[in-house]
Amino acid sequence: MNLLIVEDEKQTGEYLQRGLREAGFTVELASDGADGLHLLLNEPFDLAIVDVMLPKLDGFTLVQSLRASGASIPVLFLTARDEVEDRVRGLELGADDYLVKPFAFTELLARVRTLLRRGQVRTEPVTLKLADLELDLIRRRAVRAGQRIDLTAKEFALLELLMRRQGEVLPRSLIASQVWDINFDSDTAVVEVAIRRLRAKIDDAFDVKLIRTLRGMGYVLEAAS
Ligand code: CA
Repeated sequence: MNLLIVEDEKQTGEYLQRGLREAGFTVELASDGADGLHLLLNEPFDLAIVDVMLPKLDGFTLVQSLRASGASIPVLFLTARDEVEDRVRGLELGADDYLVKPFAFTELLARVRTLLRRGQVRTEPVTLKLADLELDLIRRRAVRAGQRIDLTAKEFALLELLMRRQGEVLPRSLIASQVWDINFDSDTAVVEVAIRRLRAKIDDAFDVKLIRTLRGMGYVLEAAS
C-alpha cells in the first residue's frame, strides 16, 4: 500500500513516515500543500494523510481540488486541537476522517488501516467512556457523574490518551511524547504534575478512583476492582 503524508513539520512528518514504513507501508512525504496535491494527482496513492495548516496550499484547498478532480482516495486530516469547525469543514470538503494532534501513533495506524479496509467510512467515536466518566471529543468536554469538569487543553489531551488506551499501563515517557512532544525520560516531571492536577479534577471528589499509579511503571486508567 502506497501512502502520502503531507506535513510541513519536518519532525512529525519523518516520525510518521518512519512508523508507517515499519508497519509495512510504502510512504512518501510532501512538505507543502502544492507538492502534495501534485503528487496525489500524478501518482497512484492508496491513502493520503494531510495536515490542515500547510504552506503554499492549505489542507482544505488540497482536498477540495483533489475531490474536484474526481479522485476518491481516502484522506485522513490532521488538525490542531480546539478546531472543531475545521474538523467539520474538512469532513464536508471530502476528508474521510481526522485525527487531533497530538495523537498516539497506534491510533493513526488503526485509522489508516480502517480507511484502507473500508474505504470512506468514518470511525471516530464521538464520546469516550469509562464508568461514569465521559469525554466528548467534538465539544471537548469532560463530564463525570453528570458534573461538567473544566480541563485545560493539555489535561484534555492527557485524559483523551488515557481513555483511548484505558486498561493499558502507560509509561511516563510515552505520555510525555504523546501529549507534550517531549522525547526524554528526564522530562517526565511535567507528566507527574499534570496527572496530579487531572486527579484533583476527575478523581478526588469521587469514591471510585480511575487513575492508578503503578510505581516505576506509569499510569493506568481503569474502573478499579
Ligand atoms: Ca502544519
